[in-house]
Amino acid sequence: MRITVDADVCTGHGRCYALAPDVFAPDDEGHCVILVDSPTGDLEATARSAVANCPENALRIAD
Ligand code: SF4
Repeated sequence: MRITVDADVCTGHGRCYALAPDVFAPDDEGHCVILVDSPTGDLEATARSAVANCPENALRIAD
């Protein structure tokens, strides 16, 4: 899997880095920064949950 974020769509709700802080982090304005774009193992499941919970649908997974 590979995760991408559409910076034009992300509004900085912070759900992604609240749910998966080892995969996502906030920038200075609270927008999503991807720390690990190809997580594996337990991190992959956590990342998929965070992607599914983005209210703006700003995160995408390419398998
Ligand atoms: S949950 Fe979605 S909108 Fe919120 S910071 Fe993460 S990518 Fe951006």
